[in-house]
Amino acid sequence: MSLNTHPMNFLCVVVAAGEGLRAGSGEPKAWRMLAGRPVVRWSVEALLAAGAREVAVVVAKDRLPAAQDALLGLTGWTAVAGGAMRALSVQAGLAALSGSEDTPVLIHDAARPFVTGAHVAALLTALEGADGAVPALPVPDTLKRGRDRVVSETVSREGLWRAQTPQAFRLGRLRAAYGAWGAQAEPTDDAQVVEAAGGRIALAAGDPMLMKLTYPEDFAMAEQLAGGRRVVRTGFGVDAHRFGAGEEVWLGGVRIPHNQGLIGHSDADAGLHALTDALLGAIAEGDIGQHFPPSDPKWKGASSDRFLTHAVGLAEAKGGQVISADLTLVCERPKIGPHRDAMRARIAELLGLPIGRVSVKATTTEGMGFTGREEGLMAQAVVCVETPL
Ligand code: MG
Repeated sequence: MSLNTHPMNFLCVVVAAGEGLRAGSGEPKAWRMLAGRPVVRWSVEALLAAGAREVAVVVAKDRLPAAQDALLGLTGWTAVAGGAMRALSVQAGLAALSGSEDTPVLIHDAARPFVTGAHVAALLTALEGADGAVPALPVPDTLKRGRDRVVSETVSREGLWRAQTPQAFRLGRLRAAYGAWGAQAEPTDDAQVVEAAGGRIALAAGDPMLMKLTYPEDFAMAEQLAGGRRVVRTGFGVDAHRFGAGEEVWLGGVRIPHNQGLIGHSDADAGLHALTDALLGAIAEGDIGQHFPPSDPKWKGASSDRFLTHAVGLAEAKGGQVISADLTLVCERPKIGPHRDAMRARIAELLGLPIGRVSVKATTTEGMGFTGREEGLMAQAVVCVETPL
């Protein structure tokens, strides 16, 4: 079978039925949170994203409701009650899947959260012409056999591999192999069951990222790796204020002497308002009017740096970090050029950025429209925020 003709036709069993308490915290490792998502969700999401047609998630019977919560919003999976041993859980998962004898099926430990589409593709390729395929890594350390904390023998590591999951098989072949395995001792993995039935298992490239979370220190490392998965989100903001009587305007956090003022409930700094809305947009936290209602007397005459600082705090609370800002001021007057660098410096300070990440631009509308007639001015801003995925 060629991957090119059936790119998406594979099934998965994700085994999350073990109690696996060695990782500490009292919560089985598949259900612990990793960068804001349960570990089991990382695995199921990744396999669905890789194109799995159906994922059977095998959990302890009393965790069926927890599985619904952990996998909320995902489609293409079914929760299945597991058995007393891993081998029974895998078989329960297999029984819940529908496919032809030849359909590839991947068996995956939920506690290996960093599986990717590339891993899946490599396994499906390796499965062609074999009865099974496992991701495997060579053993870099010297191996010792020991007893009572004393070395009894140095073991050659030649030809030894560490098998990981997911492991790929054909649905019919794996079901038959488990049928033949019967009530023997628990196999250490699924490939062993197919080997015992005379199957040929291909070694595919393993990956340190397929590590199994077992001990507390594994979770600390995984948090760091998961924290590394970040995205840049972009937000856009627009604001306008009307000119009125006055002797100064506040723009971009800077006071500029002028023959008019800007009318607004706060200090009417359209530049900082547009930046605040752009930042709120990047983190999908509504708009400035929701956070600082003009109807609330508390904000009368308020300095707009408070609004921007508040939005920065919201972004940081989500694990976000502002990475750049670009503000365009649209007006005939006052002239922005002489104040541009002072604005960049103030905005950089408010956003916690080096000045090189902050841009302030200006344009007129050549006498056209409300800005051209100097009835008011407008500001537009784009802010980029790096956040956890
Ligand atoms: Mg405003």
